[in-house]
This record gives sequence, C-alpha cells and structure tokens, in this order.
Amino acid sequence: MNKVSIEDIDTPPSNSPADVLRPLSQALNTTDLAINYFELAPGESFGYDYHRHHDQEEVFYIQAGRPTFETEAGDVDVGAGEVIRFAPGEFQLGTNQTDDRVKALALGAPRGSKEIEYLRNCTQCSERTIQAPEITESPKVLVIQCSDCGTETDRISL
Ligand SMILES: [Zn+2]
Repeated sequence: MNKVSIEDIDTPPSNSPADVLRPLSQALNTTDLAINYFELAPGESFGYDYHRHHDQEEVFYIQAGRPTFETEAGDVDVGAGEVIRFAPGEFQLGTNQTDDRVKALALGAPRGSKEIEYLRNCTQCSERTIQAPEITESPKVLVIQCSDCGTETDRISL
C-alpha cells in the first residue's frame, strides 16, 4: 500500500510545457500505470506537441478548468468532472486556451512509453509530417527529426 499527498510531490526540473507536473508513479511505486498531476496556466499544454503513443493508452481526468484537446476528430473541450481517453496510436494534445488554470490527472498504461511520434510542421516539407524523437545521452538532448526528409526540426536540452 502506498499513499501520498499530491501537493507533497515536487515538480522536477524539466522542459515540460506545464507549470506544474507532479509525477505520482514513482511516489506510489506503480508498476503498470503512469500517473502525473498537471496544472496548466493559460496557454500551456500537457505535452510538447501533437503526438501519439503506439505503446500506451492515455486517460485525462479534468479536475478543474476546461482544456481543449486537439484530436484526430477535431478540437474537443473537456470540462471539470469529465474524462477523455486516447487509444494507442491516436494523436492528441491538450492545451489550456482559457484564462483559468487547468488541474488534471493524466493516466497512461502501460507505464513506460518508448514509441512516441509527433505530427508537427517541417519547414523543409512545408507541411506537418510524422517526426520521431531520439534522446541522446551526455548531454541529454531530445532531438526531433522529420521522418520524410530527415530534417532536424527541434533540439531540446533535458
Ligand atoms: Zn521534412
């Protein structure tokens, strides 16, 4: 049995686009479930960009606020008390487009996701293309490349 208070878990230093990101998985010692508590200030997002996990389903429970999820079915607003689920392979990104803060729990299973792809703009291809992230060790850097033309579209220090 593990019990924690969410507010006792610190937001680790990272380049997360979210103001508050409290990782609960480690604190609860979950084996098969990733759990993250998020707070988004106006304009912030749950993730780096529009993406999909081939090896993980994701559920977002919205506790407060009203984020808008970009989905393959168009934009979907999710209000407090509502829950949205994405199957493995579905593109999504939730963003707070309101003036109020968003509070939410993100659940992902299985816990570790390694097969992530982004659908984002490539200046070389002049359109959104599938792009795969790669993480280099020392220095730890996230490199994102266009799968169509190989152009490096972003590089983020982790
Ligand atoms: Zn390209």
